[in-house]
Amino acid sequence: MASFALHGIGVSRGIAIGRAQLVSHATLEVAHYTVPASRIEAEVARFDHAVKDVQRELESLHGAMTAGDAPAEFGAFLDVHWMILNDPTLAEAPRRIIAEQRCNAEWALVQQMNVLVEQFEQIEDPYLRERKADVVQVVERVLKRLLGKPGPLAPASAEQHTIVVAHDLSPADVIQFKGHRFAGFLTDLGGVTSHTAIVARSLNVPAVVATHNARQLIRENELLILDGTHHVVIVNPDKSVLAEYRLRQQELELERAKLRRLKFKRARTLDGCDVDLCANIELPGDLAQALDVGVDGIGLFRSEFLYLNREGLPGEDEQFEAYRTVAQGMAGKPVVIRTFDLGADKQAAALEGLTRVAPNPAMGLRAVRFCLAEPRLFLTQLRAILRASHYGTVKMLVPMLASVAEIDQTLAIVAQAKEMLREQGVPFDPGIEIGGMIEVPAAALAISSFLTKLDFLSIGTNDLIQYTLAVDRSDDAVSHLYDPLHPAVVKLIAMSIGGADKAKVPVAVCGEMAGETRMTRLLLGLGLRNFSMHPSHLLAVKQRVLTTDLTTIRPIVARMRRTEDPAKLVALLDRLNA
Ligand code: PEP
Ligand code: MG
Repeated sequence: MASFALHGIGVSRGIAIGRAQLVSHATLEVAHYTVPASRIEAEVARFDHAVKDVQRELESLHGAMTAGDAPAEFGAFLDVHWMILNDPTLAEAPRRIIAEQRCNAEWALVQQMNVLVEQFEQIEDPYLRERKADVVQVVERVLKRLLGKPGPLAPASAEQHTIVVAHDLSPADVIQFKGHRFAGFLTDLGGVTSHTAIVARSLNVPAVVATHNARQLIRENELLILDGTHHVVIVNPDKSVLAEYRLRQQELELERAKLRRLKFKRARTLDGCDVDLCANIELPGDLAQALDVGVDGIGLFRSEFLYLNREGLPGEDEQFEAYRTVAQGMAGKPVVIRTFDLGADKQAAALEGLTRVAPNPAMGLRAVRFCLAEPRLFLTQLRAILRASHYGTVKMLVPMLASVAEIDQTLAIVAQAKEMLREQGVPFDPGIEIGGMIEVPAAALAISSFLTKLDFLSIGTNDLIQYTLAVDRSDDAVSHLYDPLHPAVVKLIAMSIGGADKAKVPVAVCGEMAGETRMTRLLLGLGLRNFSMHPSHLLAVKQRVLTTDLTTIRPIVARMRRTEDPAKLVALLDRLNA
């Protein structure tokens, strides 16, 4: 078998060697095959079965909604989906196609979906025209039933030698891999700070995204070397290449073992300045990995991941249990729970109808905007966080704030949640700190109200870069423009840290930049003393802190703040890291 290399973007460092396992995505890749006449009846029955399953799923979702405190609109959306599913154009027509064309159920369903979508596109009324999205969502649900999603995975024993290969994965898909132990994974699409990449990193295995056509070129079970540090994948390597990479793998293991000795060492610069190094987590199950590297706290709990990969929404008690587990697990060290940041690339199935139709989701009803538009959902989460605050040092962090009005509205809903709990005699920390994320340039540019109204700030560099440079963080076509060292980005970060310092408001960075050792000294020089990152980066960043002398780096960082010349910025950063 011929050996060849594919290039992409390494989003999680290290080397993986293993066999390819191709993963299908229900909506993107539907197989087309002929079904023998003798099997037609069984194929139709398979289709009927899937439709019935989804009917039941929608009905139970509907039941859960009416019993819970979900807004009435959810029920209406589910009704629409139920009607589409039961309409003969969707429930009957594919049965005929299976019989006439002797094809598989998935293919018949997608063909019929295309016919319907085309009909919807002819409709003049924009509201009705948009209902085609509902048709697609219903079909996706049935396809998932037919295919199983994300497809059958390797048995647990084989996983450690298996590299997952996919065209694209959503953050929700990737989070499902948390219970597995794959050697690595690679996708055709994706950007360096896309949520898919972030979750991939949290699996703590090497990953390469944006390989463009890996899914097409690689065959099931082929031997792969995936080098996340050098952004390359080698397919069918020859013996000498394989031996070389095995050696490199061992060297990396040795380096990791050396770093592990820093676990109990306080992160302190050479000139005696203490720095807090905290962890970003997605689910309570990630806590063990954070504790294992000796974190100073949880700087970002991306709570929205509790809402993904499930039917229905997590109720107040379920959320409370998750938050309390983390608060108690940290035994008094701070836990910053971010209120849910859904929308854009993080879509909860139960909210599909509410968040998906936006023409430009990253700029649409995302994060706090969505929460303020759905105050009942928000209130449920705020109550759960407040209740958990009784069991540890819990803080609340609000994503994507852009204006004073949003801060005021959020604080008013928090006050309402507190009042409700007080009336019910439920304990919570009345002095719970409430912070805001600086992710939108507007927040950094008009920071004074953030400083007066909030207890702390956390800079989300992933989104701050995306919105400053107008570069979609999950689109690999523009990933070359995604530049953390753009002078405008450096300026906004410097302004935010400087402004917070002056007002004596604590400030952290919790975007991916906090975990990049190349950036550690720049951030220290700008005055940052609290970094939050994926636990797998923490010890390397600690090593960098331990070898930094602030008095030496400050003049270089001061020059970086002044220049708008990109080449000079790179040269100065190299000097910082020399
Ligand atoms: C960020 O935007 O930098 C951030 C930390 O939030 P998320 O990556 O979850 O959008
Ligand atoms: Mg963000």
